[in-house]
Amino acid sequence: MTEPGVQYSKPLPAMRDLTAQFYDWCRQRELRFQCCTACGAWRHVPREACAQCGSQEWEWARSGCRGRLFTWTVVARAMHPAFQDDVPYAAAVIEMDEGVRLVSRIVDCPPEELEVDMPVEVVFEAVTPEVTLPMSRRVRS
Ligand SMILES: [Zn+2]
Repeated sequence: MTEPGVQYSKPLPAMRDLTAQFYDWCRQRELRFQCCTACGAWRHVPREACAQCGSQEWEWARSGCRGRLFTWTVVARAMHPAFQDDVPYAAAVIEMDEGVRLVSRIVDCPPEELEVDMPVEVVFEAVTPEVTLPMSRRVRS
């Protein structure tokens, strides 16, 4: 959570169309992905048609928020001044249990401790009153 009174200065998602709907669910602390109501395939990032069957019938289905670390890159040099105090950090791709992949950030684990297939869960961080981002933390067994 950003400290009260501190302006959030990092880039924010473009809040329009289906992307805005995705982040509206995040603001309600629910991770939802599109699920095709014709064939049952999950998809992310948001788009109009199913890549499996072509249907444009779908719903926002709730994710269990669990997945595994699919891959990551360690950002050692900030490419935007607002990230200067965060480096080094891991920008990650999470393979969710539903099968979709989510770009996220690992918030509780130093980059050198990351492992492929590490169990993670999505947690929410309200960075502005309008925008809540899905972050990830490791799940310890
Ligand atoms: Zn489909």
